[in-house]
Amino acid sequence: MKVSFYTLGCKVNQYESQSLSELLYKFGYETVGKDENADIYIINSCTVTAESDRKTRQAVRRFKRNNPDSVVVLTGCMPQAYPDDAEKLFQADIVIGNKSNGDLPEILEEYFRNKKRLVLTSQHEKGEAFASCSVSSFDERTRAYVKIQDGCNRFCSYCIIPVARGRVRSKPLCELKAELEQLSASGYKEIVLVGINLSAYGQDLDESFCDAVELACSVEGIERVRLGSLEPDHLTGDVIERLSKCKKLCPQFHISLQSGCDNTLKRMNRHYSVDEYRALCKNLRACFEDCTLTTDVMVGFCGESEKDFEDSLRFVKDIGFEKVHVFPYSVRVGTKAEKMDGHLPKAIKEKRTSIMIDECEKIRQYFLRSQIGKTVCVLFESREKDGMLLGYTANYTPVKAHGSTELSGKFANVKITDTDEDCCIGEIES
Ligand code: SF4
Repeated sequence: MKVSFYTLGCKVNQYESQSLSELLYKFGYETVGKDENADIYIINSCTVTAESDRKTRQAVRRFKRNNPDSVVVLTGCMPQAYPDDAEKLFQADIVIGNKSNGDLPEILEEYFRNKKRLVLTSQHEKGEAFASCSVSSFDERTRAYVKIQDGCNRFCSYCIIPVARGRVRSKPLCELKAELEQLSASGYKEIVLVGINLSAYGQDLDESFCDAVELACSVEGIERVRLGSLEPDHLTGDVIERLSKCKKLCPQFHISLQSGCDNTLKRMNRHYSVDEYRALCKNLRACFEDCTLTTDVMVGFCGESEKDFEDSLRFVKDIGFEKVHVFPYSVRVGTKAEKMDGHLPKAIKEKRTSIMIDECEKIRQYFLRSQIGKTVCVLFESREKDGMLLGYTANYTPVKAHGSTELSGKFANVKITDTDEDCCIGEIES
C-alpha cells in the first residue's frame, strides 16, 4: 500500500514523519511523494498556535475531499493536546496522538480488518520512557535531523507543548550512536540534533546534553553538528565551555528569547532575565568564532504595555540577532495565559509584529552585507529556481553561487560578492 505524509510544524515533527515512514516500510508500506496518489494519507499535525490548528483541520478535510476512497490518519500534537476537538474531525478515519505513533502499523492493521473509525488518544504519563525511534535517511536532504529528546517540564504560561509532548525524555546515547553511524554511512555530512526542549536532554538519564553533542561530534564521516532550538537557562558557563571544545559544532545558536522585557518574561513564566540572556549572548560570541545568534520573539502577550514592547524591541536590536522569528501571541486553550487579564486586540498584535519584523530585517540585511569580501566554506544542498546552487555555511548563512549539480551534498569555498533578498551571493573558488 502507498502512504503519503503531510507534516506540519517543527523539526521534531519532520523527523517523526521520516521515522514513521521507515517503520511503515518494514511492514510493507511504500511512502510516495505528495503529488502521487496514495492509499493512506498521514497528517502529522502541530498545535503550537491557533493558526497551526486551523491548517490541521483544513488539511484533514482537503485530503479526504480529494481522496474519498483513501484512509486519512490524523496524528501529531493537535490530537494529543486537544483529543475532543480532534475526534470531531470526522473526515479523519484514524485519530491518534503522537504518543501512539509507534503503534501505527498495528492500528492500520486493525482498521483494515474492521473498517471502523478508530480514535485512540491516550495522554502522556509521568515516567513514560523515550519512544525508541531512528532514521537512516532524510528525504533528499543534505542534512539529517536527529531527534534526541522529547517533552518539556517548563510550563511557560502561554505554551501547550508540555501537554502535547509530556515530560522530558531522552534517547539513550547508545541508540544515538548507532543512528548517527547509520546516517554517516548513508553519506550525511551534517546532522541537526533536535528536541522539544533540546538542552534538557539527559535530565531523565545519567547523561547530559554535552555528552550527546560530544558523541555526535565524534562520529566519523559527520563533519558538521548543528543544534536545534535551545533554552537560555540550560546554557551555563560550564556547558558553553565544554561545547566550545567540540570542533565540528556549528557556531550557530537558536536560543529562544520570547521577550526582551523582564515584566513580560515573568508573566510568561520564563526562567531568566534579559541581563542573564545578554550575558549568555556575550559569552557565546566570545567562545565561538563567527558565531551567529538567532531567536524567537513573541509580541502582544497578555498585559504587554507599550513600554514593555518598546523595551523588548530595544533589547532585540541591542543584541543584533542575525535572524529573528517574530510571532504574535496566540491564545492556547488550557494554558495559564488563557485565563490571564490583559489580552490585547488583534490590531495591536499585528502592529507590533510588523514593527518588530521590520527592525529585525534591517539587522539581518546588515549582517548579510557584512559578509561581502569574505571567503566562506559552504555545504551545497539544492539548485534554486534561478538556476543557482544554494548551500549554508557553518554559522547557517545561506549562500547562492553558480556551479555544477555535482557539488550538491559537497563543501566548497565561496567568495561572497553580493547579497539578495535573504542570502549571500558568491563565486566558487577552485
Ligand atoms: S520551554 Fe516553554 S515554550 Fe518551550 S516547549 Fe517548554 S513550555 Fe513550551
